[in-house]
Amino acid sequence: MSTTLVKNGTVITASDRYDADVYIDKGVITHIGQGLSMPADTVVDASGKLVMPGGIDVHTHLDMPFGGTTSADDFESGTIAAAHGGTTTLIDFAIQNFGEGLYPGFEAWMKRAEGKAVIDYGFHMIVRELTDQVSGDMDKMVRHDGVTSFKLFMAYPGVFQVDDATIFKALTKTRDNGGLICMHAENGGVIDTLVAEALRKGQTAPKYHALTRPPRAEAEATGRAVALAEMAGVPIYIVHLSCSAALEKIRQARDMGLPAYAETCPQYLFLSLEDMGNGFEGAKYVCSPPLRPADHQEDLWRGLVRDDLQTVGTDHCPFDFVGQKELGRGDFRKIPNGLPGVEERVDLMFQGVVNDRYTKERWVEITSTSAARIFGLAGVKGVIAPGADADIVIYDPERKHVLSAETHHMNVDYSCYEGMEIQGHSDIVLSRGSVIVEDGEWKGQSGAGKFLKREVAREYLK
Ligand SMILES: [Zn+2]
Repeated sequence: MSTTLVKNGTVITASDRYDADVYIDKGVITHIGQGLSMPADTVVDASGKLVMPGGIDVHTHLDMPFGGTTSADDFESGTIAAAHGGTTTLIDFAIQNFGEGLYPGFEAWMKRAEGKAVIDYGFHMIVRELTDQVSGDMDKMVRHDGVTSFKLFMAYPGVFQVDDATIFKALTKTRDNGGLICMHAENGGVIDTLVAEALRKGQTAPKYHALTRPPRAEAEATGRAVALAEMAGVPIYIVHLSCSAALEKIRQARDMGLPAYAETCPQYLFLSLEDMGNGFEGAKYVCSPPLRPADHQEDLWRGLVRDDLQTVGTDHCPFDFVGQKELGRGDFRKIPNGLPGVEERVDLMFQGVVNDRYTKERWVEITSTSAARIFGLAGVKGVIAPGADADIVIYDPERKHVLSAETHHMNVDYSCYEGMEIQGHSDIVLSRGSVIVEDGEWKGQSGAGKFLKREVAREYLK
């Protein structure tokens, strides 16, 4: 198949909505207009449907080792699930090994994805120690490999946490090479102290994972990260922002005109601490930062409306309840951290449209376009425009379905949203012009996803 015509739909982008046909040649959008009559190998009827750029999830952990086990979705099952949910691009995280430069870790993750991913993907590189070699590797990756973002941690001492000097050095590096630092902002020293205290008191249930990571620990680290970026004179991107006090730090920074960006996740908008209960079932909801009391949700929604939050990623990092989450019975520290969610993100965020919180245009922006701009994919992904990759979702804004582990495509034995009724779902999903999902049926090909060499995004990050 080389040409496709999408007819009679309503095109929705981050900035516009209009009725038009979209013509695709060799995977790229070539024409947009009303009543296009060019011959096409495939014609897709989008009457009554939205024609939008495929979702971009910039925060996933597929096939990731964690505490003696591995996240349950690999690059095949995870990208198939993403595609069923209307997401056509992922940016996952490759991890540096201690004592090495960045390349062995990067190459290991490239191998994990190769031959498996069904949609296009890129990598952020997690930096655990910043030697001179690593410093050089950062420059090289930005210039030659299309890895233009790096993640650092302010939590998990001894595993991922780096000190302020390291953070500042890494930020300064990006001033020269144009890369972007993504920050896990929680105060690891405070958290580990609270964790030790809880265990001394015999508080071992999953909810204590959440209670030992208070919102202030996230807000403090978020504020510090922003201040370090300000001193280095560079933009910063905070991953998985979960609470009001951290959001307040970002809002203050942006009001001052600083290039501070932040992502939240559906779990912080739809789930809360109360969902964890008191028993071990709460392990299903163990993630970091943790779920917060429900009164944080309204602030986060407002943050999305006001553009204090620019993106919604999932932090998809699934572990089966049976056999994996269970590793932490009797000790919440041993519960693998993470939730499944890559499949539900676009639909969950459509509820913001259904509930009149924001426009369809804003929905496209927070689930796709902003991510493309911030992470160096502008013009290629996240838009319906001539020259862009034909990653297109034909979305039915009326279609209802119920979220459930029985019907989802993620390789995990529970759903965080079991039984939730959702309005809106993708009918047809195209990846570079090929139909990969049609009416819930899988039509794609393992390994068809391409590694994306991303650009530096200097002109968008101001
Ligand atoms: Zn993560």
